[in-house]
Amino acid sequence: MDSPNPRSRPGRIESTPTEIPEELFDLAPLASHVCVLTGAGMSAESGIPTFRDPTHGLWENYNPEDLVSVQGWQADPHLVWAWHLWFQRLCASCEPNAGHRALGRWARLANTSAAPKIDIVTQNIDDLHERGGSEVLAHLHGDISTLRCADCGLVTDKHALAPTNPASFPAEDAPRIPPPRCTTCGGYIRHSVTWFGEALPTEAIDRAMTSAMTCDLMIVIGTSGSVYPAAGLPRLAADRGVPVVEINPRDTELTASMDVVWREGAAVALPALVAVLIDHHR
Ligand code: NAD
Ligand code: ZN
Repeated sequence: MDSPNPRSRPGRIESTPTEIPEELFDLAPLASHVCVLTGAGMSAESGIPTFRDPTHGLWENYNPEDLVSVQGWQADPHLVWAWHLWFQRLCASCEPNAGHRALGRWARLANTSAAPKIDIVTQNIDDLHERGGSEVLAHLHGDISTLRCADCGLVTDKHALAPTNPASFPAEDAPRIPPPRCTTCGGYIRHSVTWFGEALPTEAIDRAMTSAMTCDLMIVIGTSGSVYPAAGLPRLAADRGVPVVEINPRDTELTASMDVVWREGAAVALPALVAVLIDHHR
């Protein structure tokens, strides 16, 4: 008689009937240092659209590159500011999904036993990893809730303009809103995120590269692999012979170079994976 398939673990992961790829089931429990690279797809099931999703409402007639690029800001700062306020409000209104929370559980497990060190490197500008219980090693593209002066770089108190502060945050979304002015130099205030045409924050990319160059397993979740230098990080691990795993419902520009591909959404795959790992380390 056939023995039950251990990957299904019927008694453990009933609520997530997805099947963990066999190679990952074998690899993940052996890892001692995991670099997890996440992109917009990580937060898709929380209700934050990716840039490849069709845009809605106010923004449907705009190209994302005009909303998040240096050229877009120079051409129309009122449009770029208004889009970022809308996105900031959207991020604040969304909750971490089961995938974010599963990563948080995995990290807590790592802190309390011989389980692996988990480095989260994200391209996302939301804070859903943090609210899901993880510490983020590197926010490669910045953070939508931080503001700075576009001219002198002075960082503005993030609570000065927060969606939770009705006194300062506009009540209505609008396609154009003039940015506030810096109290020091009079320049426009902008969100402290990395736009197309800008360099990444040095400390964040350094930390991410160190993680990719020292991990013994890399998991790439919800990224199209088209935005560099982030998309180059998996290669740093692969070149050392470290297994690289992709979790994404669709093919990406990185798929061909992956060792394991799991065609699944983050909010389904990660709870299933972490349930098995927690079980393993028990
Ligand atoms: P992208 O929009 O280029 O690609 C998103 C990827 O997510 C796609 O490959 C898609 O197949 C995948 N995906 C969709 N649903 C998924 C799910 N449920 N689970 C797993 N994967 C899923 O995103 P990107 O590669 O991260 O690049 C766009 C840049 O835009 C990012 O670097 C980021 O700075 C910014 N961005 C951030 C957010 C955010 O902070 N939540 C959202 C949109 C864009
Ligand atoms: Zn200034």
